[in-house]
Amino acid sequence: MNARLCMTICVMACIALLGIATAENVIDEIVNTAMKELPFEKGNHNILIMTNIGYAQGSEMYLDDFLSKVSELELSVSKNVIFVHNSYNKPLWFAFFDKSTGNCIYIEIKNGKIIKQAKENIAASNLLSNPEDWDAKMKSKVFSGNEFSVMTIANVWAKGMPWELQKSAEFHNHICPGLTAGYLIAQYLKKELPLESGEEYQILAVPPWCKDDALQVIFDSTVGKRKMVVKTVEKPIPSDLAGIYIKWNKKEGKGNGVVLTFDWGKACKDAGINRSDFKDFKSYKWWYARLKLDLWMMDYLNKPEYFISKVKEFKIDSNTLNKLKTAGVNPLIELGVIVEKPKVEEKKSPLPFEASVIGLVVAAVIFSILKRKS
Ligand SMILES: [Zn+2]
Repeated sequence: MNARLCMTICVMACIALLGIATAENVIDEIVNTAMKELPFEKGNHNILIMTNIGYAQGSEMYLDDFLSKVSELELSVSKNVIFVHNSYNKPLWFAFFDKSTGNCIYIEIKNGKIIKQAKENIAASNLLSNPEDWDAKMKSKVFSGNEFSVMTIANVWAKGMPWELQKSAEFHNHICPGLTAGYLIAQYLKKELPLESGEEYQILAVPPWCKDDALQVIFDSTVGKRKMVVKTVEKPIPSDLAGIYIKWNKKEGKGNGVVLTFDWGKACKDAGINRSDFKDFKSYKWWYARLKLDLWMMDYLNKPEYFISKVKEFKIDSNTLNKLKTAGVNPLIELGVIVEKPKVEEKKSPLPFEASVIGLVVAAVIFSILKRKS
């Protein structure tokens, strides 16, 4: 036996003895577990794999093997995998969903080993017909707190979501009606205020909500590039206000803008949802309303004008744009969308110095009167 072969055998024996898992072994174990438990065979295009691989700290070491495995399974990276954005300090997880059954296997990894595995049926029809049962499982964090992400992405994907909504869902890490509204606003702007060569959208996120994550992804109008400014302004504001959008020509230093609203009252009424349920975080209603509306809105993805209206149209130059973006400036007042509240003059109480001068004058007058009388 030559020295090289001897060394290889020693290294392999050490790996076996110490139980050191290679990246390839880990991915094999995850996929084999999912294939056995879900179950599914390779080439099954009803399968969606959701994972935060590449975001969880250190998980990039598994990425090449994961992508090879996806191709070995004869699945498409663009159609059958969703890379869910998470903070670096979240554990690495995978969820395999079969849209033909609604079954889902959740697998969590720590130090190269499977530390959690759970199987649930998350088909929307099941969750919406037994909301209390699923709510108890959500409260017990059956998918380690990723339940809302997994169930909304999986069920919207099963209905066939467009690519721009899928990219937005990856960044936002769940699908809620607010994110879908952002997708719809993007489609509305493409029709109503289309970009010409050299133009970009400048966005004032007033007020900010989930829509702004979709808009940053679709238009690259990101906060860091100062193409989006986020402002929470003092109330009152127009109801259902959904932001200020400017088609901006940087070279010419001018643009056209619109102030938009999104009719949530109409969406909720048509979908048969009580609007107040969105804020009911004590019961199942908060997620029930979101999931139901998510699915309902899928039939309206080509009809943004059904929900979106223009409150105002305006032309703008660079000085005004800079002013609108500045902290402390309410862009709704500047654009004449709302009228500035008249400032109430506070009653000035006399300052201590002024009070003492008045006191001295009064004392001097009284003294002089008394002196004259005596
Ligand atoms: Zn959201």
